[in-house]
Amino acid sequence: MPPTEDLMERVVNLAKRRGFVYPSAEIYGGFRSTYDYGPLGVLMLRNVKDAWWRSMVQMRTDVVGLDAAILSSPRIWEASGHLANFTDPLVDCRKCKERWREDQLPRMGADPNGEGGTPVCPACGSTDLTESRAFNLMFKTFAGPVEDEGSVAYLRPETAQGMFVNFANVLNTTRKRPPFGIAQMGKSFRNEITPGNFVFRTREFEQMELEFFVPPEEGKKWFEYWLEERFGWYKRLGIPDEMLRLRHHDADELSHYSAGTADVEFLYPWGWGELEGIANRTDFDLKAHAKASGEKLEYFDQATGERYVPHVIEPAAGATRAMMAFLLAAYAEDEIGGEPRTVLRLHPELAPYKVAVLPLSKKDTLTPVASEVLDLLQPHFMCDYDETQSIGRRYRRQDEIGTPLAVTIDFESLEDRCVTIRERDTTEQVRVPIDEVVGEVRGRLGWGA
Ligand code: ATP
Repeated sequence: MPPTEDLMERVVNLAKRRGFVYPSAEIYGGFRSTYDYGPLGVLMLRNVKDAWWRSMVQMRTDVVGLDAAILSSPRIWEASGHLANFTDPLVDCRKCKERWREDQLPRMGADPNGEGGTPVCPACGSTDLTESRAFNLMFKTFAGPVEDEGSVAYLRPETAQGMFVNFANVLNTTRKRPPFGIAQMGKSFRNEITPGNFVFRTREFEQMELEFFVPPEEGKKWFEYWLEERFGWYKRLGIPDEMLRLRHHDADELSHYSAGTADVEFLYPWGWGELEGIANRTDFDLKAHAKASGEKLEYFDQATGERYVPHVIEPAAGATRAMMAFLLAAYAEDEIGGEPRTVLRLHPELAPYKVAVLPLSKKDTLTPVASEVLDLLQPHFMCDYDETQSIGRRYRRQDEIGTPLAVTIDFESLEDRCVTIRERDTTEQVRVPIDEVVGEVRGRLGWGA
């Protein structure tokens, strides 16, 4: 199905209806583009993060994890440049009073690259806008009971700085040496001027970031390596080729410290947009923190006597944004036996439930066997258990939330101790002995033996 505006609406509706994502504080009329992750959303978001952690930390020997504080010292943000530069250009429309990010406004009379011309208010079409002013995106708060300058703290706007300020700690407490990385995932906060498009841009979101420290002369090589690795990750998890592309930033788009940046872009219903940014940040961050803190943030190679400040390659992804992309890419409508159905063709690793256990009827006679099957599966896979409504409707419900497999227990199961496994994508059904159900499910999910 080609991506359309309608697709977005359908996915947002499904997300709400089936308990993936709810608008936050809904009983009070909602709260400023914030969202709550419901019973299925919390499972799926965790799966996205687990898949990232697995590929970035578990399956490697050159990356270690970190979970740094969200509430952070102003000194970090002063040194990193965020206090001075982490701003967006804010303009007000004098006519309708809406606020916008100037760099995202449509421009009248612009050249084919969208440069030049006069910014136009997307709400009312007026060109009577205020001069833009730099608006800092960091959430400021106070640590402790006194609200004065000495107690100012910030909610981190990215997880990356936690890795830079702990560089020496990690070097001293592990046996890692460049090239090696520190990975972190967790909440970040940005006071976005124009949040929107569901969870694409929110003020509170989750990031998954790696800072990969390398000898300076290896920066280019590792940048290329991570581009390929990260692009491949989205593909392996089921985003089709035609919805994914890599876009290298032009020289005039690069941050002053970057020796190269590329975005993994996804084809959202409104067009191509960033999914993840991969940057060669050189030695900018470590040097900035070394200078501001007076601490040495460098690597000393005892074998060669060489001392250097590593360069950093940073693949920076959004967990919540990625979850939305996976939902958009998986959403499909098809027909089964002449009946329309909605199906989320999610990769099994990302699906909230891997298996649904469905006794054919609610009759007590089936319950003991159904419980037995559930007990076998539950330690290995996140399972749903559902015994209400017709089996057809229950299959439909599972298809709609992306459950790859359903195991049905019927009256024959009492006699032959076999159950039926149904596949979400093909709706193919096979009968297998209860004793083999765990191995069979594992194989069908692609988990291996
Ligand atoms: P954008 O240009 O879209 O504002 P950015 O280039 O500032 O994003 P980065 O600072 O590179 O984003 O952050 C890395 C990743 O974190 C992004 O690719 C995105 O997936 C995610 N991200 C950033 N800001 C938000 C947000 N406000 N809401 C949700 N995800 C976000």
